[in-house]
Amino acid sequence: MRRARAGASLPAVSEPATPDPRPGSVASGEHARVVALRADLLAWYEDSGRDLPWRRTRDPYAILVSELMLQQTQVDRVARAWPAFLAAFPTVEALAAAPVAEVVTAWRGLGYNRRAVRLSEAARRIVDEHGGRVPAEVAALERLPGVGAYTARAVAAFAFGRPAAPVDTNVARVLARAVAGAPLTARRGQELADGLVPADRAAAWNHALMDLGSRHCTARSPRCPTCPLAARCVWYATGGQDPATGGARRPRPQGRFEGSDRWYRGRLVDALRQGTMPWEAVEASLTGLDEDGRRRIVDGLAADGLVAAGDEGLALAGGEETEATRDG
Ligand code: SF4
Repeated sequence: MRRARAGASLPAVSEPATPDPRPGSVASGEHARVVALRADLLAWYEDSGRDLPWRRTRDPYAILVSELMLQQTQVDRVARAWPAFLAAFPTVEALAAAPVAEVVTAWRGLGYNRRAVRLSEAARRIVDEHGGRVPAEVAALERLPGVGAYTARAVAAFAFGRPAAPVDTNVARVLARAVAGAPLTARRGQELADGLVPADRAAAWNHALMDLGSRHCTARSPRCPTCPLAARCVWYATGGQDPATGGARRPRPQGRFEGSDRWYRGRLVDALRQGTMPWEAVEASLTGLDEDGRRRIVDGLAADGLVAAGDEGLALAGGEETEATRDG
């Protein structure tokens, strides 16, 4: 458990840090602390960073695939699925040319299947509009289907070494506790992250923040005594209310998964990976739902581009013998 050290005092950051915190842009003591904190974290990462497969490549396409997968799937599951997916679709051109049904099938085990559709759309956009090269600029990346502010910055930093700062909940928590010592709005957290990222080591810095947030600076039980930032961390020095939760939104209670729409959607897509299903089989797979519920599931999957209907029944979108929409 975290404990405050009496007597130690480090200044809280009251203004956004500047890139490579420039001399004169922050108070001299604060500038020195930020520089030292960054050096400590990078040194720790060199020794103790996680060796994840997508960290061993600079192939922008492979990194884009990994980041789409990591949006809503745990690291160990992505580590298993990513190599197989790349073996099936080794280039962005191969992915762009593949029927959506094949992409969704290769997405097996990752959940949230609509990401497979968005990734397929992004691949076609990259081929059609960017000559088959994943764009390096955050703004261009953000215009790709399925790519939001976080993923665009992650690809820019990890594939191209751009000084971009992807901020997820782990990173935001570390910044609030160790750097600001105060709760951060999303905008303030992004500003702070933007100012801290070193221009020449963007990938290592962002990976280091993520690893620290998942291994030491965890949400419920931060391991402060063994943390590489213990000597620089504002919250560890000053104590008080947790900056990462003070004023933060309460997490919504999780509803039961089995029997939820997401559960039915996943079950139906899994069954469709075996091939086209007659309507009787579709209805059987949605047992427990009334007619309105079954229609909601099927129409929702069609609206997300995951399935298409035809005379034979329902199939994954992009397969043969299907139409774009379901009648009636
Ligand atoms: S950054 Fe390290 S010292 Fe600071 S709260 Fe997190 S785990 Fe504790």
